[in-house]
Amino acid sequence: MKSPLIALMTLGLCLPLLAQNKPKPDAAKRNVEWQKEEMCQFVFFAVLEGLYRDGIQNEIVDAIIGEKILKKDDKVKTHFVFRCKLCHATYEAFRTYRNRPAFMQTKGATTFGKGSDLKLLKKLGSKDARTRIYAMGALVRPWIMHRIKETRKTPEEKTAMKKQFSKYAQEGANLLKTHKRAKDGFYLDWSFYGSCQACEAAKDLGKAGF
Ligand SMILES: [Zn+2]
Repeated sequence: MKSPLIALMTLGLCLPLLAQNKPKPDAAKRNVEWQKEEMCQFVFFAVLEGLYRDGIQNEIVDAIIGEKILKKDDKVKTHFVFRCKLCHATYEAFRTYRNRPAFMQTKGATTFGKGSDLKLLKKLGSKDARTRIYAMGALVRPWIMHRIKETRKTPEEKTAMKKQFSKYAQEGANLLKTHKRAKDGFYLDWSFYGSCQACEAAKDLGKAGF
């Protein structure tokens, strides 16, 4: 009987030591830990799935992931709120899709759908933040709804999701306020409702049929 108890006690002693290995506060400030959160994973898969299903072209993806922006940290800032968890989950799905391999024995096919209208590129590259972000949102929001339908969420689960989306949206809005004050050349003209398009899915959830 003694040895399991000792093992437990030893574990109890080790846990605080393990906890000390956490990243230092400075590093934590820069990092965005979205990966382990259920809602973020849900959005990540919804976007990745949508990109494949619709066969979105690389030109469109490049416009969204800030391919032309040189500074690594700034790439996310053309269409997303920096450090907003749902924004980063969405952004990383676009990046993952962009790095997809070609299917073998298919003459280089890499995706499923026929692609989107390339006219979208003009809107995605617009200097007007609202135009740019809503163009991206028009892609992403139906994908999130698609996955909610596909996973057959119960009314209770939908209500819970809606609440969570709102929580993320609030965090995103607070971050955006801070970014605006930083005046680093980004976000100054983001003066419109719905800056986080993944969080905006909360509104879609409130519509009839959901
Ligand atoms: Zn966001």
